[in-house]
Amino acid sequence: MGESRPEILPRVLSGTYDDRFSTVAFIGGGKMYRLARERLGTISDVLVKETPFGCSTPILFMEHGERRFFLVPRHGEREYRVTASFVNYRANIWALKELGVERLVAWTGPGSLTSGLRVGDLVLPDDLIDMTRHRASTFFENKGIGILRQNPTFCPTLRSALEQVLSEMALRHARDGVYVVSEGPRLETRAEVRALRAMGGDLVGMTLAPEAFLARELEMCYHPVAYVTAWAEGVGEDADASARPGPEEERQARIDETLQLMPEIVWNLLELLPTAAWACSCQDSMLRYKKRNLIDDDFHNWI
Ligand SMILES: [Zn+2]
Repeated sequence: MGESRPEILPRVLSGTYDDRFSTVAFIGGGKMYRLARERLGTISDVLVKETPFGCSTPILFMEHGERRFFLVPRHGEREYRVTASFVNYRANIWALKELGVERLVAWTGPGSLTSGLRVGDLVLPDDLIDMTRHRASTFFENKGIGILRQNPTFCPTLRSALEQVLSEMALRHARDGVYVVSEGPRLETRAEVRALRAMGGDLVGMTLAPEAFLARELEMCYHPVAYVTAWAEGVGEDADASARPGPEEERQARIDETLQLMPEIVWNLLELLPTAAWACSCQDSMLRYKKRNLIDDDFHNWI
């Protein structure tokens, strides 16, 4: 766990943040923090941001050579403490907007609804089905705004950059997939898995909604990178034995192997992003409300 480095304790920031540390953030799951300590780079600061929606999770300020980025351990900084159902998505996305973040890449470890994907496989999902039930899913409760199109669901510019990075690293990955977001924290029943497949799902996880939709509400680019962690209940029971995930140790080893690639993917993406042609409209998602003078340019006034 990188014990040799001095520990940086999170500080709480309630006011505005004036520095421009980075415009890119990576949101990740429980293993990400461990990786951050070990390989992703040096942690120069850790901040808990107070927002109108409560406190964010600790946000790590990361440096690797010349590259700077934020790292957001979704489920808590120390260990897997906050399950996906109870993550304060609004506080996290609001805090990142306050820090000046414009691009968000979200890591997620879903189960597969099909035996065509193997444990450890990387997937760039291209759409979402939101089956969550108990989460605050919008910033806009009192303004009559927020009726936003969701096509494409994820940022096309981040998508082509991620595709380029994965291809150049020669990493096996699926170029599309529909990610179903379940409420959790329990996993799905066999009947639910059949139903999710029938409705067009390829992956089932618990984290991308409302995260992706909240990012759009604050005009940020957002794209997920999924790594398959299991087959969902009942999937692939008649599959060839060689395709099955295998015993638990083998499954964990395959997941770890994929996660070990993460720092290089992050660094390569950070290298590429400044040169990417930004052709998306993510940063104008609220434009029509601005044109109608329902809101101004300062997102603080949108809630
Ligand atoms: Zn975009």
